[in-house]
Amino acid sequence: MFKCDKCNAELEPNAKFCTTCGEKVSLKIIENMESEKPVSKVKVWIFKSIAFFIALIVFTIARLIFTAINGGTADGKLAMGGILLFYGVYALLSGIFLKDKEARKRGGWVLLIYVVASIAFSYFLNNSSFGIDEQIRNTINSTPIKIDKDTELSKVSMNGNNVTFKYKLLNIAKDDISYADLQTFKQTIKTELCKDKEFLKMMKHDKIISTYYYGKYNGLISNITISNRECR
Ligand SMILES: [Zn+2]
Repeated sequence: MFKCDKCNAELEPNAKFCTTCGEKVSLKIIENMESEKPVSKVKVWIFKSIAFFIALIVFTIARLIFTAINGGTADGKLAMGGILLFYGVYALLSGIFLKDKEARKRGGWVLLIYVVASIAFSYFLNNSSFGIDEQIRNTINSTPIKIDKDTELSKVSMNGNNVTFKYKLLNIAKDDISYADLQTFKQTIKTELCKDKEFLKMMKHDKIISTYYYGKYNGLISNITISNRECR
């Protein structure tokens, strides 16, 4: 409801002049009147649909990103956050399109809660061992069998805190490699594992990583066990 600046009488919708005193309605009031104009049902429907689809796209992209970060799977915990994100974007955009202050506010709050909760949740995930076994299994399941053209992953197992990887070196036999070369090989593997983000994440949670390397005739060439301490 808008009132005349001069006589305080109630103005009619879209009035240019006050019907009581004849005063010209100020530009500011006209602008406010226009922004409060009721929007047609079709327009509401179209805008809400657009907001819905944009929210769906944002939700899908966020899910793809989370899936990539979490090694191949997006589980239920992430879906919960996705619903907040979806609703927040939908409410915020509907609010903007339909000039609905309440919806805008609601969307803003939901998105803020989503961001804060996501940060808190990922901080929690990174610093507690909650769900770490599941994350390791996801990592393992998304690891390719062919590590490179000469190396194949043949077996992975997890037993308590011990995670074991067995590799087969397709072009090297056990007897091909000298003692000195073996020491260099071990050192190289250790250095590489200590640089690998996925392995570091496991070790951070006190997992002990063992890797076994078998030659082309299945003879054990070398095995290395490392834990968090050795990578510092
Ligand atoms: Zn007036």
